[in-house]
Amino acid sequence: MLTKKVNCMTYSKKYDLAVIGSGPGGYVAAIKASQSGAKVALIEKGLLGGVCLNVGCIPTKSLLSNASLLQKIRKASEFGIEVGNVSFDYKKMKVRKDGVVDKMRKSLEGLILSNGIEILRGSASFVNQHEIKVKGQDNIHLYAEKVIIATGSEPLEIFPCDHKKIFNSSSILDLEVLPKSIAIIGGGYIGCEFASLFAELGVSVTILEALPSIVSLQGKSISETLTRAFTKKGIQIKTGVMVEKLTAHDKGVKATLKGAGELDFDIALVAVGRKVVSQNLQIENAGVLVNERGVISVDDKMETSVPGIYAIGDVTGKVMLAHVASHQGIVAASNATGQTAYMHYEAVPAVIFTFPEIACVGLTVEQAEEKGYSVSVGKFPFLALGKSVASNDVEGYAQIISDTKTGQILGAEVVGYDASALIGEIALAIANELTLDCVIETIHAHPTTAEGWHEAALLANGTPIHLPPKQKKT
Ligand SMILES: Cc1cc2nc3c(=O)[nH]c(=O)nc-3n(C[C@H](O)[C@H](O)[C@H](O)COP(=O)(O)OP(=O)(O)OC[C@H]3O[C@@H](n4cnc5c(N)ncnc54)[C@H](O)[C@@H]3O)c2cc1C
Repeated sequence: MLTKKVNCMTYSKKYDLAVIGSGPGGYVAAIKASQSGAKVALIEKGLLGGVCLNVGCIPTKSLLSNASLLQKIRKASEFGIEVGNVSFDYKKMKVRKDGVVDKMRKSLEGLILSNGIEILRGSASFVNQHEIKVKGQDNIHLYAEKVIIATGSEPLEIFPCDHKKIFNSSSILDLEVLPKSIAIIGGGYIGCEFASLFAELGVSVTILEALPSIVSLQGKSISETLTRAFTKKGIQIKTGVMVEKLTAHDKGVKATLKGAGELDFDIALVAVGRKVVSQNLQIENAGVLVNERGVISVDDKMETSVPGIYAIGDVTGKVMLAHVASHQGIVAASNATGQTAYMHYEAVPAVIFTFPEIACVGLTVEQAEEKGYSVSVGKFPFLALGKSVASNDVEGYAQIISDTKTGQILGAEVVGYDASALIGEIALAIANELTLDCVIETIHAHPTTAEGWHEAALLANGTPIHLPPKQKKT
């Protein structure tokens, strides 16, 4: 059938590889394949950079950096700096955020083109295993020897969003005027990052979460730490509550809770999770297996049920994070271009960009115990670090979880200033199956917050230096 179509020349262009979707999975895969000598088409129906660049990681972190600066300025007098009354203009913060995104999107386009990749703008759908139709700004019927599907995910709207009073995580980014109050439905990491942002900017924030705790996926200790910090900040957390209905009206939004009455807010953000995007691909024409939620199943080489067709990123439903999508992209592109690579998930760092910042990697204490390890925990408070005290960032800790029998590092979590950067050291350790001794024998620069890892490893080993003897037991 394929040969017949090839002979009929139903397609007008031929590529070694077509990548569908230009998020952090797709564009990285396209660059990797192109660097390996493949002729690559990158197909995008929306904006280059996908969710991550346009309505995810980058815009949220841009707004959070405004809030972080504001937080610092408000504490200026503790450093002997008097700044007088501090005010801010949220619309200008939004304009800055849009500027950051635009700038990065232009750089990304340049990067893709400089790698010799052809960008096709339009929506892709399969004609068969090798042929794809692109409809949109570009209208092309192409042939690709191999295909990588990187079509990502979109907000799960369990309540209809009017994007005026009831928002999802994308449309909330277009807000120009801050509300007095907001209900955030869903206490996962996305809901919590928005909670931190708005609370820091003076909005009254209430998180409504159906599960018994917020950020429950990240484990008990992180959930408890964040709950404490949020409560101190004045963020209201209502767990175990089921929102049945959201009703937008002239003055705001009414949230109807199952068996617990009604609550009124100015606006609401629905952040209850994401659904994969594969419905628009006519994937059945290629014979690729998907489950009832549209998730594309892949093996550890990122190959789908059809040889030569790979899937990466959120659409695979594995770990919905940008850096996972990118790594999967490198694995898929390597396999699609004649090399062999496998995907591993033991050392995936995850960051919650709240105030305080939280990061973790590997197993939690509970997971390690469930797996039968005899667990040793070293938890070192930043309060005892010179750098943290000097910079007035004493909130938080560095914690290493290891196997008492072998010393192998199994997991870690870090809460506090620059946790997002600090987690890299332990991700490297876990990915390379290193032990506590490796961290202990590594000289950490002084004074830095990275010394927290050194002390946490010493503590897990029972030999801490910078804690008084009575605190040495974990
Ligand atoms: C508010 C928010 C904050 C986040 N913050 C972080 C963070 O700090 N760190 C982190 O690691 N992750 C974060 N994420 C998650 C991260 O954005 C995603 O995991 C990541 O974008 C997934 O990348 P992807 O390549 O799989 O797909 P996406 O980024 O979703 O990109 C998919 C692309 O495919 C295109 N597409 C879909 N169908 C077709 C088609 N048929 N034809 C052509 N193109 C198509 C879409 O238009 C889109 O551009 C955040 C997400 C949200 C919503």
